[in-house]
Amino acid sequence: MNTYKKMMRLATGVAMVGLLTTPVLAKDRNNHDDNMFNNMPKAKNIIFFVGDGMGVSTVTASRIYSVGVDGELTMDTFPHTALSKTYTADHITPDSAGTMTAMMTGINANSGIIGYGPETERNDFNHDGDGDRLWTLLEIAKQKGKKVGVVTTARVTHATPAACYAHVSERNHENDIALQALPTDVTYNDRLGDGIDLLMGGGRRFFTPGGMADEEGDTGSRSDGRDLRREFQDAGYTYIWSQEGFDNLEEENLPILGLFERSHMEYEYDRPNDLGGEPTLEAMVEKSIDLLENKKGYFLMVEGGRIDHAHHAGNAFRALTDTEEFDRAIATAVKKANLRDTLIIVTADHSHVFTIAGYPMRQPSDLKYDFGSAPQEYLDNDMEQQHGGILDVVYDISSSTGDITARTAKDGAPYAMLGYQNGSGYRPEPRLNPQDDPFPGLGGADTLIPDEFGNTGSEHTQYKQEAAVPLGSETHAAEDVAIYAIGPQAWMFHGTVKNTHIFDVMQSAFKY
Ligand SMILES: [Zn+2]
Repeated sequence: MNTYKKMMRLATGVAMVGLLTTPVLAKDRNNHDDNMFNNMPKAKNIIFFVGDGMGVSTVTASRIYSVGVDGELTMDTFPHTALSKTYTADHITPDSAGTMTAMMTGINANSGIIGYGPETERNDFNHDGDGDRLWTLLEIAKQKGKKVGVVTTARVTHATPAACYAHVSERNHENDIALQALPTDVTYNDRLGDGIDLLMGGGRRFFTPGGMADEEGDTGSRSDGRDLRREFQDAGYTYIWSQEGFDNLEEENLPILGLFERSHMEYEYDRPNDLGGEPTLEAMVEKSIDLLENKKGYFLMVEGGRIDHAHHAGNAFRALTDTEEFDRAIATAVKKANLRDTLIIVTADHSHVFTIAGYPMRQPSDLKYDFGSAPQEYLDNDMEQQHGGILDVVYDISSSTGDITARTAKDGAPYAMLGYQNGSGYRPEPRLNPQDDPFPGLGGADTLIPDEFGNTGSEHTQYKQEAAVPLGSETHAAEDVAIYAIGPQAWMFHGTVKNTHIFDVMQSAFKY
């Protein structure tokens, strides 16, 4: 084939791809009638899963932790995937407010912003007003007569859930965000019609008067003295705060406000210790689908909100166990929903500076050859850790003797597979021998104990993976994240796209 023909073929291919994707979006925005897409399979329901901070390295590490190197998470089994670019209108490395606004409205926004476009600056620091509110997919679904639900393990007023139903130029104004969901308040977001049908997660303090003790003995932090728990009930909501209240929920209880914790809900690992009891994310998803199912369909946003928080704390263990629970919730949705009329999308809002490093060996039983000697801690990986030892230090094999040893860095200390580019797990230079390390555990199997590291005088008692740059809180990362999709129009996810494409596909799946 000559060069000209090759180029023509290429151009035709590009045009074809263009036909299949871009025109939908352009025409959709301009409200043109588009017959071309009339016989596309339409989604009655959409379940949108957001793993907050669940970058690709987090998915890989969680897979190894949960089901082994060659196992499959439920999200791994989805037939359609794409890479998603997460930058905001003003930052290379984004935050959850800007990215969730992009995914819920189709317009790339600035970091810190909820529900406004790129001209709206954070906290209105230019004092020029916030401008026009964007439409969110949840608002659009509600206008179509669908039921809508927001479920998170973070505070329900936190950036990701808030970007479904609120409009504020400062994500930290959580007192205001709570009011926008309250149908009887003057600042109510009236695009929500008769209200969000189901809102569950943490964040009771923004619904409880400042200083007042709540159901679990924690104090509220509303500066206006209002008790929104009561006001939501006066507006027709069923309010629950405990496992028991959750267990008793029935369809006739809609609309529902569930606030299971003063701030964010517990990490999945710590959940059994909660005073009033908390449902798992999986249980919340199962119940939500049961309650929201109806003739006109529903939109449900589910956030695995604390994957992000564990990473910020430099504690890989809780990031992995929360991702594991997030994946269980996805599995339940796949099992319960009819995939002929339900589009399920799984993605992350951004990544974290989290890496799987060195050349670690797989588990002893995974190896198909006989090896020489190996330390007991490595051999124990098989017996005690059904989890692939991903939290362990790096063991590697000598190609001359076949002996397996813990690898050491230039300073003589072993190093873990998992680590962060920055954060509070920084060890001062030179790193000490493991037995003298004030961050015990780096020398051996202790990295496997989630609470080994006692950061004296602080609330953080969780083990922290090593970090290269000393920061109080580990940061997000700028690389692309993955999108996994199944159901009607899931095929629209392919290639590398901007995260706003998620809104475009969801809107198209509801419309065409
Ligand atoms: Zn974060």
